[in-house]
Amino acid sequence: MAFEGLTERLKATFKKISGKGRINQSDLDNAMREIRTALLEADVSLKVTRQITRRVSDEALGAHVLDSITPDQQIIKIVDDELIKVMGDEASELNKSKHIPTIVLMVGLQGAGKTTAVGKLARRLVKENNARPLLIAADVYRPAAIDQLKTLGETLKVPVYDEGTDVDPVEIVKNGLDLARKNNNDYVFIDTAGRLTIDEQLMDELKKIKELSQPTEILLVVDAMTGQTAVDVANDFNDALGITGVVLTKLDGDTRGGAALSIRYDTGVPIKFVGTGEKLSDLDVFYPDRMASRILGMGDILSLVDKAQEQYNEQQAQELARKIQENNFDLDDFIEQMDQVQQMGPMDELVKMIPGLSDMPGAANIQFGDKDFAHMRAIVSSMTQEERMNADVLTPKRRRRIAAGSGRDVMEVNRLIKQYKQTSTLMNKMQKGNMGAMDQMFAG
Ligand code: GDP
Repeated sequence: MAFEGLTERLKATFKKISGKGRINQSDLDNAMREIRTALLEADVSLKVTRQITRRVSDEALGAHVLDSITPDQQIIKIVDDELIKVMGDEASELNKSKHIPTIVLMVGLQGAGKTTAVGKLARRLVKENNARPLLIAADVYRPAAIDQLKTLGETLKVPVYDEGTDVDPVEIVKNGLDLARKNNNDYVFIDTAGRLTIDEQLMDELKKIKELSQPTEILLVVDAMTGQTAVDVANDFNDALGITGVVLTKLDGDTRGGAALSIRYDTGVPIKFVGTGEKLSDLDVFYPDRMASRILGMGDILSLVDKAQEQYNEQQAQELARKIQENNFDLDDFIEQMDQVQQMGPMDELVKMIPGLSDMPGAANIQFGDKDFAHMRAIVSSMTQEERMNADVLTPKRRRRIAAGSGRDVMEVNRLIKQYKQTSTLMNKMQKGNMGAMDQMFAG
């Protein structure tokens, strides 16, 4: 996952100054140097790195970090603020035009994830706004792109307009827009051709399509894995076309993530969405504050809450909150939560989003697949009501009985009980607020 290296280095830096009580100027200078190196190694541009470290130094002086008895937390807060500022403060959603359809022109180099992003955005609009988008296949140089878009359209039950590969893309866009107006589609996504590198012919074609379609949004799709190149590409496209937003893809990959920090600062164009996987649901709104806390290793609790909200209804959430508050989170609830969580996505990804959890001993144990889940359910089903409500009564003898009853072995039963206890401890921690987890993480 992106930022792992940066997060680790920043954490190590903060750890050095935590537990020290007051720090002196040389501690602060060292910390600044380490923050600078950590940013540069994560592929953050020199300009942005300088900006961040200069502002952090200035702020640290102003905030009297040297006089503070919690210098590490003050510095973390300052770095957090600066990261958020550099990434653009607020999240920005897709702009909507006053008259339908809202036209979104999707541009980018080949392989950046443009076509996939069209599918992801269309899915999101259909799911959240009941939108009726039309997708226009204007990438005539790569026949596979048209097929890919058509397949996406079938999956999403969204119409795709194409005229094959022998027609001028400008013409296709014109006819596609006529159709959208006729059919009252509220959104139109134009999937355009990419090249391996930027060339004039590509830009000329895009300019013509822009001229004709007068889009509300020109979204540039860039691959986070390409690092500084992503920033250069963003600058080039912006100079030529005037882009309105960026979709940063492949943030799930083995990327150092620096592009996320540099793009907004370098181009002034906001990152609107991030791609976090190949599936159509792997698209998140880009929240600078959440990204900053992720970079600082404080997890991404808000994104997790968002994901959870997609799965839970209000009543379930309130019920769960009440149980945690009253310390009544029992094994039945645990299985129910696991069931919900199963539907939210891969467990190891979720674990990374929870502040402090990835650092907790045993966090690695909270990973399992579908089959494990069926086994867990079988184990809990073999417990008595009393046992489910109070895990403390689960003596070795009872555990052996449960193992026999569920056809699993005792070790598995033990593991489940341990996972349940860890989860319930964690829930209590979260209930008490983030600070607890943070303190624990930076404790010297
Ligand atoms: P295009 O040439 O820009 O239209 O790119 P595609 O949409 O065809 O994507 C190129 C490849 O990147 C495909 O294999 C996609 O599945 C993959 N891809 C796109 N977005 C993401 C992402 O956010 N994460 C990961 N891991 N892969 C992605």
